[in-house]
Amino acid sequence: MPDVFADLVGQDEAVGTLRRAASAAAAVLRAAAAGPDDLAALADEAEVAPAAGGVAAGDPGAGMTHAWIFTGPPGSGRSVAARAFAAALQCVHGTGCGSCPGCHTTMAGTHADVRLVVPEGLSIGVSEMRALVLRAASTPSGGRWQVVVIEDADRLTEAAGNALLKAIEEPPPRTVFLLCAPSTHPDDISVTIRSRCRVVPLRQPPADAVAEVLVRRDGIAPDVARWAAAAAQGHVGRARRLARDPEARKRRDAVLAVPRRLTGVGAAFDAASALIEAAEAEAEAAVAETDAAERAALETALGAGGTGRGAAGAIRGAAGQLKDLERRQKSRATRAQRDALDRALVDLAGFYRDAVTMALGAPVEPVHTDTAEVAGAGARKWAAEGALRRLEAVLACRTAIEANVKPRIAVEAMMLALWKG
Ligand SMILES: [Zn+2]
Repeated sequence: MPDVFADLVGQDEAVGTLRRAASAAAAVLRAAAAGPDDLAALADEAEVAPAAGGVAAGDPGAGMTHAWIFTGPPGSGRSVAARAFAAALQCVHGTGCGSCPGCHTTMAGTHADVRLVVPEGLSIGVSEMRALVLRAASTPSGGRWQVVVIEDADRLTEAAGNALLKAIEEPPPRTVFLLCAPSTHPDDISVTIRSRCRVVPLRQPPADAVAEVLVRRDGIAPDVARWAAAAAQGHVGRARRLARDPEARKRRDAVLAVPRRLTGVGAAFDAASALIEAAEAEAEAAVAETDAAERAALETALGAGGTGRGAAGAIRGAAGQLKDLERRQKSRATRAQRDALDRALVDLAGFYRDAVTMALGAPVEPVHTDTAEVAGAGARKWAAEGALRRLEAVLACRTAIEANVKPRIAVEAMMLALWKG
């Protein structure tokens, strides 16, 4: 099995920081094992301290701290980095060898001292966070670290953020929090949490690095990998899907056909409807299987159809639990729809970005090689300024949806702007 950081594409600087921290963390454990007399000396060496201001004294790369934030654009590998670091902290041979039990179980998601929070809905609630914080305070059963990975920490509710903040302010000695968020902007992560964490910024990985990992890890043909990596604009997971899934390619083709179809007001509204409905269908397909399986599992657990003693009470409790499940599933479906729509908007933005760079004669590769000709025609017709206005309309639509404008309204406004220019 390769090193745990192998799949973190094009992030050499971040990997260096994390390796140094993991080795500092290992030094702390050795110090603790060596006894209290040596502890101070070794702790000095490792520079372990709750992250006051986020950075340890001396070489900022060397220290280990109790709270980290991984930031970067979608697909840059925030959660991959967090999981790999978690494995490196549990590694018994080095700093993420990939083959020891610590690395192996962490990467497989079965390590007893690594907890992963993946919000399924639009937010992470306070009860979930409180339970998590409580468990994170317990002594690590493997003798190393209790690691809590929170994917999409930008989806914490305010109350959940406060519960987390308390734990980060006074961290139990062996607990490490790893948060993932798009950025450290106050909209994504509260200023107070940010101030207690060390930030590991990830960049958008270059297309050739993404293509390389698709070839090496997924066995995808080099030319397909290169096309998919460029079309996915540095999003590793998206590139893999495009390379492998014909349905994903079909959806992308439909989105990229939009600019050609905007011939009038009616066509603009039709295009908006088609985009929204495609996102809904994609989301439905994505969650349908999980939804059905969860419901079946819950019904079995609740003993649906039971007639024994206590069945009446169980049924009363069951109604509440089913309602709770339905609420969570609805939230997850909404999230999946927004994610699908956002992917479509990113593809569309790539098209207009190609038109802008062509109108300017910029010497850069197009995002979408397969629609470069259409983008070129657009560039001639609209000139750089008109292409830029259209690109801005797509980006404004993303921002509006993120700010909770109803997707259909935002998309209709965008389509009209794209048509009018
Ligand atoms: Zn290992």
